Amino acid sequence: MNDLYARHRNVLPDWLALYYEEPLEITHGEGRHVWDADGNRYLDFFGGILTTMTAHALPEVTKAVGEQAGRIVHSSTLYLNRPMVELAERIAKLSAIPNARVFFTTSGTEANDTALLLATTYRRSNTVLAMRNSYHGRSFSTVGVTGNRGWSPTSLSPLQTLYVHGGVRTRGPFAHLDDDAFVAACVDDLTDLLGHIRPPAALIAEPIQGVGGFTSPPDGLYAAFREVLRQRGVLWIADEVQTGWGRTGENFWGWQAHARNGPPDIVTFAKGIGNGASIGGVIAGAEIMNCLDANSISTFGGTQLTMAAGLANLGYLLEHDLQGNARRVGGLLIERLRAVGAQLPWVREVRGRGLMIGIELVKPGTDEADPQAASAVLEAAREGGLLVGKGGGHDTSALRIAPPLSLTVAEAEEGAAILESALRGIA
Ligand code: PMP
Repeated sequence: MNDLYARHRNVLPDWLALYYEEPLEITHGEGRHVWDADGNRYLDFFGGILTTMTAHALPEVTKAVGEQAGRIVHSSTLYLNRPMVELAERIAKLSAIPNARVFFTTSGTEANDTALLLATTYRRSNTVLAMRNSYHGRSFSTVGVTGNRGWSPTSLSPLQTLYVHGGVRTRGPFAHLDDDAFVAACVDDLTDLLGHIRPPAALIAEPIQGVGGFTSPPDGLYAAFREVLRQRGVLWIADEVQTGWGRTGENFWGWQAHARNGPPDIVTFAKGIGNGASIGGVIAGAEIMNCLDANSISTFGGTQLTMAAGLANLGYLLEHDLQGNARRVGGLLIERLRAVGAQLPWVREVRGRGLMIGIELVKPGTDEADPQAASAVLEAAREGGLLVGKGGGHDTSALRIAPPLSLTVAEAEEGAAILESALRGIA
């Protein structure tokens, strides 16, 4: 055990689940690469969804944050804050939500907390629908809408939560159905449920489940849900914490793959929008956002420091069409990995959109999830100089690939080659 890890174990909670048998200390990064304390360089195929949406140490963001830190960081709830207004204006416009209002938090958990607060207040109900296998955060309310077993250990939730089918396409009672029949079965299930309960406040759902292993429900599922929800006055909260900002390539928001019948009532976002600065947020139409009788609800949400980072990062993303890059480079990467996966009996599926790609591993010749194989590939990829993530619903048996959105074709090929040899190596 290295010295820093020993000190970490002495002073931090045991449940901080670090990756790798020998945990990694990342000391610096540039572009799509990071370096560890021993000077080893890694191509980063996971940081894009954690902290770093565009690129590590992006000069535009570094400069904006440095200048802002040298000027002022003060309360954004008591005084006017220009960068906060400017970022809210940009996000409101991008949201496609009519008459949108934006509220900034410091994390995705807090954003979902706020969304649940808004929905339950607006609808005067503490019943909420969530998807099986979902992940929405670790606070009291968000654990209560998290269906992923590994992440919802001990909560006595303040909400009454009912879990709905549809987030996971590959397993469960409807897995054998084709896309249309799957959507129809999930809609029937939702309709039946709603027929037996008082109207819930909202359905909260990730368009693609992130922690759950980058699952891919058929396009249109949430559009079909929306019709049923609308008839009962149930709000739709799209958790875009992982799927937002063009990561899925074809669309700027994950919900756009589904909803031809208009945007969600509430959208939440977080993670890489600040490229390392802690930004989360909620977008909702004015009527819903203003239903709270509140006196602001966050000290650090929307400070000038994080807003400066967000403005510079979002500006870079839009000016360089990183959504288009995610579509092009992600498309090539998915194709390449599918070709590899087709040759390996322990690869059940390569799925995803844009630069959000999941590889699900099973015991060869069976449908049984293989979390050990996922861990082995994670370790082998690291040996080869590549960082990837893992996730999954019932077992952590999916590899997760989510690089910074500026990934080049050459880097995609380099990473795919390392991943291919890691995947072959577990034979
Ligand atoms: N929603 C989703 C879909 C997430 O993936 C996460 C984080 N993994 C969260 C919410 C919580 O975000 P945070 O960790 O910033 O609180």
